[in-house]
Amino acid sequence: MQTQSATSVGVPPDLIERLKAVTGPAGYLDRPEDIAPYCIAWRDNWTGRTPLVMRPNSTAELSRIVAFCAEHGVPMVPQGGNTGVTGGGQPHPDGSEIIVSTNRMRSIRAVDPMGDTITVEAGVPLAEIQAAARKVGRLFPVSLASEGTCEIGGNISTNAGGIQVLRYGSTRALVLGLEVVLPDGRVWNGLRALRKDSAGYDLKQIFIGAEGTLGIVSAAVLRLMPLPSHSETAMVGVDGPAESVRLLGRLRESLGERVTSFELLRRSCLDYTFAVMPAHSDPLAAVHPWYVMISVDGPDAGLRGQLEEALVAAMEEGLVRDAVVASSERQRAALLALREDQGEVQKLFGIGIKHDISVPVSRIAEFMERADSALEATYPGIRLYAFGHVGDGNIHYNPFAPADWDGAAFYAETAKVNRIVHDIVVELGGSISAEHGLGQLRLGEAEYYKAAVEMELMRRIKAAIDPLNLMNPGKVLRIRPRPASV
Ligand code: FAD
Repeated sequence: MQTQSATSVGVPPDLIERLKAVTGPAGYLDRPEDIAPYCIAWRDNWTGRTPLVMRPNSTAELSRIVAFCAEHGVPMVPQGGNTGVTGGGQPHPDGSEIIVSTNRMRSIRAVDPMGDTITVEAGVPLAEIQAAARKVGRLFPVSLASEGTCEIGGNISTNAGGIQVLRYGSTRALVLGLEVVLPDGRVWNGLRALRKDSAGYDLKQIFIGAEGTLGIVSAAVLRLMPLPSHSETAMVGVDGPAESVRLLGRLRESLGERVTSFELLRRSCLDYTFAVMPAHSDPLAAVHPWYVMISVDGPDAGLRGQLEEALVAAMEEGLVRDAVVASSERQRAALLALREDQGEVQKLFGIGIKHDISVPVSRIAEFMERADSALEATYPGIRLYAFGHVGDGNIHYNPFAPADWDGAAFYAETAKVNRIVHDIVVELGGSISAEHGLGQLRLGEAEYYKAAVEMELMRRIKAAIDPLNLMNPGKVLRIRPRPASV
C-alpha cells in the first residue's frame, strides 16, 4: 500500500458549497460513502481523500467547474474509469484536491463509417466505443482487460496500450482530434477529423499521455479500422523469450499485418492462474517454460490454414514446441481469458513488485535473462512472473516474494528490486513505464533516469499550460509550491 501521511489541509467549506452550486445536486457527490470508491485505485494500492467529487454532464459544465477552481485556487484530479495503476487518478491524502470525474459525459456525438471516425465524450467506456464501431462494421482497436470500466478520456490521458498495439498502435496513433478543458477553464476545440494537418504544433499530442496534468480531455475524434471478418487465436509453447521474438518475425514474414496480438506468458502465469481461478485449464498437453497467445485477424477465409501452416513451419525450425489453434468461440475465449485475467490473478495472488517496462524488441530475451539472474542472486527463491506484449517490447515483469517470505517484508524491498530491474532496462535503451504512465508511482525514478534536459522540458510545458499547478498536481512531475498569488 503506497500512501502518504495524512495531514488535513482540505478545501475551505465555503468554496465547496459554491462549487456545488455550479452544477446543482446532480453534478456532485459529497457523502463519504459515495466518494470512497473514487479515492481507492482498482488494485487497492493507492488511496487518497477528497471532500467532493464533481461529475459534470457536458463540456460547458466541466468548463465552468474548472474555471471556478482556477479562480479560487482549488486543485483538481481528473478521473475516468479509475482503473489506472500508478495512482494518477487518486487525490493526495491531505484532502486538498477535488476529483473531477467524467462518468456522466457519456455521449457518442457522431459515428462516420465513410470517414472511418467516431466522435465521443471523455466518459464513454472503451467497450461502448468498440460496440458502436462494430455496429457500423468498423473496429476501434484499443483492447484492454479493463475495457468495460475504463473510459476513453483515461485511455487518451494514459496513452493506453493493450493487446493490439502490435498491429494498430497505441491510443496515440488512433486519436485524430481532441477537445480539452484547459486549467483556466477555457475550452480548446481541436476536434478535427483530419488525417493530415501540418498547420503548426500538433497540440493534441501534448495532452495525450499527460495523465491529466495539463487539462481535462472532454471529447475526442478517433480513427476506426475495417472490422476483420475472420479471427483465429492460438496458444503455443516455446522454450523462451528469444524463441518467441524469432517466432514473431517468422509469423510476420508469412502472415504480414494479420498478426494482431502476440502475448508472451511465463509458465508461472498459468500456474498462479490455476491456483486462484480453477475454471481455467492447461491449454496444451505438456508443460512448457513459456507460452505465446497469438491472434490473427483479416478478411481472408483461409486464415486458419495460413496460421496452422506458419506454426508447423515454426515447429520444424524448432521455434515452437506445441500449439493449439482454437476450434470454437468458447475455446478462443478461454485462450484469450488466460492472458486477460493476469491483472486479476496478481490482485488475488498477493504482493508482487510491478514493472511495466519496455526495451527494444531485439533485447527482450537479454532483459529477461539479466533481470532473472540478478533477482535470483539477490533474493534466492524469488518467484518470477512475467507476461507482456512481445511486439511492443513491453513486459509486465512482476516478481512475487519467495514462498517463505512474508509479503510485507518483500514489499519493503521495492526500491531495491526496482533499481535492479530498471537499471537493466535503462542500460538496454528501454523505458521504466511503457503503458501505465508515471502517476505518483514513478516520480522519483523518472527524475533519476531521465536526462535533466528532458525533465526541464516537461516542467516548462507544465508551467506554460498550468502555471498555477492546479491540474493533477504531484502526478508525472513532483508537486512544486504554487505561486504566492493563489
Ligand atoms: P483513470 O484511472 O480514471 O485515470 C488514469 C489517468 O488519466 C489519471 O492520471 C487521471 O487523472 C487521468 N485522466 C482520466 N480521465 C481524464 C480526462 N478525461 N482528462 C485528463 N486526464 C484524465 N493499461 C494499458 O495501457 N494496457 C493494458 O493492457 C492495461 N490493462 C489493464 C488491465 C486491468 C485489469 C486494469 C485494472 C488496468 C489495465 N490498464 C492497462 C490500466 C488502465 O486500464 C488504463 O491506464 C486506462 O487507460 C485508464 O483509463 P481510466 O478511464 O480508468 O483512467
